[in-house]
Amino acid sequence: MSLGHGRPYLAIPGPSVMPDRVLNAMHRAAPNIYEGALHEMVDGLVPDLKAVAGTRHNVAIFIANGHGAWEAANANMFSRGDKALVLATGRFGEGWADSARRMGVDVEMLNFGKQSTVDPAQLAAALEADRAHEIKAVLVTHVDTATSVRNDIAAVRETIDAAGHPALLAVDCIASLACDEYHMDGWGVDVTVSASQKGLMTPPGLGFVWFSDKAQERCAGADLRTPYWDWGPRAAPQQFYQYFSGTAPTHHLYGLRAALDMIAEEGLPQIWARHATLARAVWAAFEAWGQGAPDIALNIADPALRGHAVTAARLGAPQASALRKWTETQAGVTLGIGLGMAEPNDPAYHGFLRVAHMGHVNAHMTLGALAVMEAGMQALGIPHGPGALEAAATVAAEAVAETAG
Ligand SMILES: *Cc1c(COP(=O)(O)O)cnc(C)c1O
Repeated sequence: MSLGHGRPYLAIPGPSVMPDRVLNAMHRAAPNIYEGALHEMVDGLVPDLKAVAGTRHNVAIFIANGHGAWEAANANMFSRGDKALVLATGRFGEGWADSARRMGVDVEMLNFGKQSTVDPAQLAAALEADRAHEIKAVLVTHVDTATSVRNDIAAVRETIDAAGHPALLAVDCIASLACDEYHMDGWGVDVTVSASQKGLMTPPGLGFVWFSDKAQERCAGADLRTPYWDWGPRAAPQQFYQYFSGTAPTHHLYGLRAALDMIAEEGLPQIWARHATLARAVWAAFEAWGQGAPDIALNIADPALRGHAVTAARLGAPQASALRKWTETQAGVTLGIGLGMAEPNDPAYHGFLRVAHMGHVNAHMTLGALAVMEAGMQALGIPHGPGALEAAATVAAEAVAETAG
């Protein structure tokens, strides 16, 4: 017997759940790419994309996943041999550093490990040591999806300013955009990178780079820039084909249109509050499960430093992998693997998992995922503390009661 038949729930931190509205918007005949409705629709995406990132500046859309968006940002910011300071707080910070390094950027990395945020004091020291102001940009991940740590981007900007350093600030918001509060202009960010398949609820395939006028000016001579990846024509096209340097990704764009409509209708503050509440419900469950069960713990100890779209936890090896398998086959819920905590051939790899609460997710999905995790722990004999579901339900109930009336 399996209880897995029914609508499956992919609770991994990207790709995330695609709303039926997004899927239905994509289900249509191929449009004319040379004139007509598609052109107007794409013009209309631009202001809404800027609103989601909190910027009045520029946005370029690329046919790419997040790795492609990293590369697009690198190509437009740097010349070969330019220096970048990367602040890594997990696998994705390391990934962006690797991308830049392999493109010919001189990368200096401050690695804060797998359980901490950026330490402003270490950043200040690195900037002060750079007396010649060779560092052209500081690269940082807002929420590292591997560790689920959330960095204080405004504090990074303050540290750069306090050091009197002219470096640009570039932020990877792939896991956090339209999930965690973010204000590109308000926080003094020059370049923001994201992709379609996480908080933006659209299939993987669109990458975005928002850039300030200052970044555009400062990076005008970047010699890693190539015709296809050039952000200039994409952000200010004279002709429609320049938006995408060729054929538009038509159906992804219709899906994105529907997703941006849904985001506008719900409103960013409510979206941020929903993600924060679902995150706290997941944390409450893990705290209860961890009582008297030392194998079970959240990766980031301080709740103030956790992202709101994904939660990384340890459950002991091989219990985490066994539980993932159980929830997928017996209950229709696919949980995330523990990424970058241990290599797949290391037995420790099977001790980590991640629960996503990212994008098109409501209380019944998150509370349901927690309930099947509890069922799986019982079925597999994984020791765990009591009261997790009650604790999670209480978080949901109290959050709604606090905002009612
Ligand atoms: C998902 C993710 C990426 C990589 O995106 P891909 O689409 O898999 O290339 C990069 N950074 C962060 C923070 C992410 O969450």
